[in-house]
Formats: sequence, C-alpha cells, structure tokens
Amino acid sequence: MIQLYIPLNFLGVIYREIKQSLTDLDKMFTLMDKEREVADAPGAQPLAGLDQPTVRFEDVVFAYDPKGGRTILQGISFEIPAGKTVAVVGPSGSGKSTLARLLFRFYDIQQGRITIAGQEIRSVTQASVRQAIGIVPQDTVLFNDTVAYNIAYGRPGATQDEIEAAARAARIHDFIASTPKGYATMVGERGLKLSGGEKQRVAIARTLLKNPPILIFDEATSALDSANERAIQAELQGVAQNKTTLVIAHRLSTVVEAHEILVMDAGRIIERGTHAQLLALGGRYASMWSLQQSDASA
Ligand code: ATP
Repeated sequence: MIQLYIPLNFLGVIYREIKQSLTDLDKMFTLMDKEREVADAPGAQPLAGLDQPTVRFEDVVFAYDPKGGRTILQGISFEIPAGKTVAVVGPSGSGKSTLARLLFRFYDIQQGRITIAGQEIRSVTQASVRQAIGIVPQDTVLFNDTVAYNIAYGRPGATQDEIEAAARAARIHDFIASTPKGYATMVGERGLKLSGGEKQRVAIARTLLKNPPILIFDEATSALDSANERAIQAELQGVAQNKTTLVIAHRLSTVVEAHEILVMDAGRIIERGTHAQLLALGGRYASMWSLQQSDASA
C-alpha cells in the first residue's frame, strides 16, 4: 500500500503544479486578450455594401504601444479598388504584416482612417469586419480536430459536400482521401502533421468556404518547393478573382500581376506603381527584382 501511496502522492504534487501553471497561462492569455481587445463603438452597426468593397488606408499612423512606443507605420495611404489586388513588398520588419493586422482590426490606429466600402472600421462592429475578411496566413494554425472540422472552421455548419468542394478547389482533396480515415482524420499537434504546403491548402479551402469579399494573403516566408509554390500561387489567384485583395509578398514573382505594388521600408511607402512602372523607375523595387532574378538563375 505504502508503495502505491507514495507515487500517487507524488503525482498529486505534479498535478497541482501543472494545474497552477496552466491557470497562470490561462490568466496570462486572458490579460493579453484584454489588452488587445478593440471595443465596438456605442451603437456600432455592421458593415454594409459588401459587394466588392473598396479598401482605403488614409494617412495611417500606428504604434503597437500607443503610450509613446515606437511608431511602426508613419502616414500610410493607399487604396485597393473593388475586386483588385494590391501587393506589399519590403524588408523584414518594414510593417507589411502590420497593415494586415490593422485591416482585420486587431489593433486601433492612432491617426488616420481605414475604411471598407466607405465605412471607417472602428465605427462598425468588429465582428462584421472580421466576417468580411478571409486570411490565408503564413503559418496556418490547425486545431487538434478532424480535417473536416479544420476546413469547416471557415463556415460553421457547412455540409460535407461543401467541405469536399472547397478541398477539391484548394487541391487538397486527393491527399485527404488517401488517408485511412479521410475527412475524419485527426490533424494538428496530436494528429497527422501536415506539410507547410498542405496547411496552406487547408487555409485556402477554409477561405473558399467562408467566401469573404476581402482577402489577405500573407505569403509564407519558408520556401516551399517551386512546383508546390507555383501551384499554390495559381490556387490563390483563382481564389482572389474579383475579390478585394491585399497580398503581403515575400517573393516578387507573386506580385507581377498586382494592380499596384507598394514598396515599404521602415514603416513608410517608398515606391509605388505597377510592376512595369517600378522596373522603369529603376529604384529599390527594380534592384530587388534583378537580385531575385539572378538568385533564381544561380
Ligand atoms: P516580415 O517580412 O519579417 O514578416 P513585416 O514587414 O511584416 O516583416 P511587421 O510584422 O509588420 O513586419 O513588423 C513591423 C515592426 O513592428 C517590426 O519592427 C516588429 O518588431 C514590430 N512589431 C510587430 N509586431 C509587434 C507587436 N505585437 N508588438 C510590438 N512590436 C511589434
């Protein structure tokens, strides 16, 4: 008996310690959420007029820490016309992903305006802004649940047929069908591990199901093999057809077709134009382009 008693007691101590640290973690996340939370204005209405909305940034100034922290964006203005694609390029830390976070209203800005279909995003409900936007992030977080659940997360209540149609369009259906349990296969940390490309395809399928009028693509920095990368780019272009799209690009090949390319550096737009205009300008974009071309042929 005594032998059993000691280990159990010992386990009890470990259990209490784990529980304590989980509680602390839980508290920490709650605090972080509180800090991050952006509140709806009193009487805020949902976004309206979402059939191909135009997105505008007007003189946006932003610091993550509004109380005197480093200014990350300094007077950013651009427009994504209805159904068009604007691409953002620039060195790491220049503020590209911050633009996406602000459009999704993870944070409120300190100066300027961000509008969707002419409505300032801080004056409408936060839920309606997030409902209007689909994000294909750099690194998709998968839930410890089935593939079907992970795809349907884009639209709770989607039918199995709808889930499969989205998976086919994102070219992940054949892979899913080849696993022993198909759409019931568990994925995530505790299930089947998916490659970077497969995870991005799940994110594309999710976005297809959600079918939002605005898209944000945060291109993966980690290199996929080039055949996979080209295929995913083609899928993304298909999804972006007629949607108002912001692409955060790490490879310039993705941006050639964009309506406008913004070149950022240290929180400012230093060049802007189409691919041809920027090449003709012979500035930063042109040198990034020739560097990438010589890397590709090396
Ligand atoms: P990358 O190409 O590496 O993804 P990026 O151009 O997207 O870079 P951002 O992620 O927008 O850059 O970051 C811009 C700046 O803001 C960086 O200096 C970064 O350190 C800072 N930053 C990003 N997120 C936070 C945060 N949550 N709190 C404070 N500073 C942040």
